Amino acid sequence: SPVLRLEGVRKSFGIGTPAETEVLHGVDLVLERGEFCALIGPSGSGKSTLLNIIGLLDRPTAGRMDIEGQDTSLLDDAGQTRLRGHSIGFVFQYHHLIPAFTAAENVMMPMLVDKGWPSAAMRQRAEELLDQVGLLRWKDNLSSHMSGGQQQRVAIARALAMQPSLILADEPTGNLDTRSAEDAFQLMRRVNREQKTAFLIVTHNLDLARQTDRIIQIVDGRIVEGNTGLLA
Ligand code: ADP
Ligand code: ADP
Repeated sequence: SPVLRLEGVRKSFGIGTPAETEVLHGVDLVLERGEFCALIGPSGSGKSTLLNIIGLLDRPTAGRMDIEGQDTSLLDDAGQTRLRGHSIGFVFQYHHLIPAFTAAENVMMPMLVDKGWPSAAMRQRAEELLDQVGLLRWKDNLSSHMSGGQQQRVAIARALAMQPSLILADEPTGNLDTRSAEDAFQLMRRVNREQKTAFLIVTHNLDLARQTDRIIQIVDGRIVEGNTGLLA
């Protein structure tokens, strides 16, 4: 089964109030295992809303979403949390690292939340992951003492901790200089190739978007695929 399948997904806010508005108007989308995709679209077009739904942080108003073949509407909140923890990794624009924790401790966070990991196993896994992103030497540095580019690489290592099949990245390079942005992007690409992890990367950077396998455009809450509009 595909990593992700959305059928007729709608999302409204303010239901039952005079301010009720539908933000996603019936989104159909399939992501296959290992697809490396960009999600682009103007401000206010619904990218964050869609990412929150795919990341099981918010539920659709209508429609169906399957993750790894599992119909998510059948899951209660605890079931969704479990599926999120094991299938989805998150990378954010402002990395959301804990400043007072070391790089290794930040990478261990998803394992701590998962519970039941012996601390030696967590530490070993964190070191493997930091090695993958080229930061093993920095494992005991406080994340607040690292550069923006390094912090984003720690965030990518953290997103990989549970070997998710899909990583959702919301403007992962938006806060980085050109060189660090390119590094972070190439790191995600390498992870994608080596581990077959699917990526959905929200970006305003069209140079990076063009380097993905597939560009998904969202305009006014509807998906438009291919090389149209903004990309022309
Ligand atoms: P979100 O709604 O996902 O938070 P925003 O629309 O707020 O995303 O944009 C995130 C960042 O990208 C902001 O810093 C914003 O200034 C910048 N941005 C927004 N629209 C564009 C655009 N069309 N081109 C370049 N940068 C943009
Ligand atoms: P993008 O990420 O593409 O900038 P968003 O998904 O953040 O777009 O927003 C899409 C639309 O939904 C915007 O008009 C925004 O104002 C609206 N919206 C987002 N979240 C809420 C909310 N919690 N309540 C009401 N309106 C919202």
